Amino acid sequence: MNARKRQNEFRIDRLNEEKRLPHEEWTALLSAWDDSDRAYAAEIARALANVRFGHGIFVRGIVEFSNVCRNDCLYCGIRKSNRNLERYRLSEAEILDCCDAGYEYGFRTFVLQSGEDASYPPERLAALVRTLKANHPDCAVTLSVGELERADYQMLFEAGADRYLLRHETADPEHYARLHMPGQSWERRMRCLRDLKEIGFQTGCGFMVGSPYQTPETLAKDMEFITEFRPAMIGIGPFIPHCDTPFANEPAGSVELTLFLLSLCRILIPDVLLPATTALGTLDPTGREKGVLAGANVIMPNLSPMQVRAKYMLYNNKTAVDVDTHITRSDLQERLRKIGYTVKVARGDYGETSC
Ligand code: SAH
Repeated sequence: MNARKRQNEFRIDRLNEEKRLPHEEWTALLSAWDDSDRAYAAEIARALANVRFGHGIFVRGIVEFSNVCRNDCLYCGIRKSNRNLERYRLSEAEILDCCDAGYEYGFRTFVLQSGEDASYPPERLAALVRTLKANHPDCAVTLSVGELERADYQMLFEAGADRYLLRHETADPEHYARLHMPGQSWERRMRCLRDLKEIGFQTGCGFMVGSPYQTPETLAKDMEFITEFRPAMIGIGPFIPHCDTPFANEPAGSVELTLFLLSLCRILIPDVLLPATTALGTLDPTGREKGVLAGANVIMPNLSPMQVRAKYMLYNNKTAVDVDTHITRSDLQERLRKIGYTVKVARGDYGETSC
């Protein structure tokens, strides 16, 4: 065993024991690692997940209810400046129908995600959440609709929303500025995340792996931010270029680095709800299974109506735009069975040890 490998195993053990690493150690670990370091971390991560969640995977049905967005994130296919995209917005009735269908298939969490669409203001969303919770009192509702005022987040929480996903995208303000337009502020993003957590949401942050200008240094800051923030959920997926964005010619992120970071997140916060993301499944046909084996415990199948799926294109070649919910669900069950896991029918809240 060479010295570097020993050092990385030592760092991973230290992370497991102390649940934090000094900045230089994060940077060193993320600068030079190999498949055997990744396997070492995955084994620890998987064991930690198995103790807490058994071999059950939580599924969340995601409804992408609008691709209208006022923001212009340089990486994102539904950015305001993309004129090559037909915009759509589902009605309340359509969204509720998707959730009803999802309930039948066994989903007990619904994730409502969209661009930052002014036609779905917080009041309208709050009414929708109230109806959804009244229809399905045994289900959790997760929102992922971007940056809002604290009072609006409060209103949505009081309407019954349980969780909120808002990726921080990068914990480095200069990196953030290179991924977004001048009107978008890293400080505001951070304030939103703090507000969400203080209000009482199970709050999710996260970032893309391999976004342009990302370095081991910025990744180290992401891991330190996660250490301090202690999110209930962490969304990590590879960056995938979209042809109608300024980053069209940038390379996609690495599946292996994504898997390594998933394992490190599981080791850092053993209870965290950690999805094997659609982006991971897009870059690698067995990416989500690999994510589970790296310590992920959540999968988020698409519940959106077939006719709009191809229009919610955050990146090119997004997976499952042409299969219906039923097929995805049984396919998912079969894929998980092959690696020794099952789909769990439960809300799957943060902090409950449910096995
Ligand atoms: N408007 C919501 C939802 C954004 S889309 C919000 O602001 O939270 C959800 C996530 O998709 C983003 O946070 C981003 O991290 C990811 N994403 C966007 N474009 C992507 C791309 N090209 N490749 C991979 N992930 C991308």
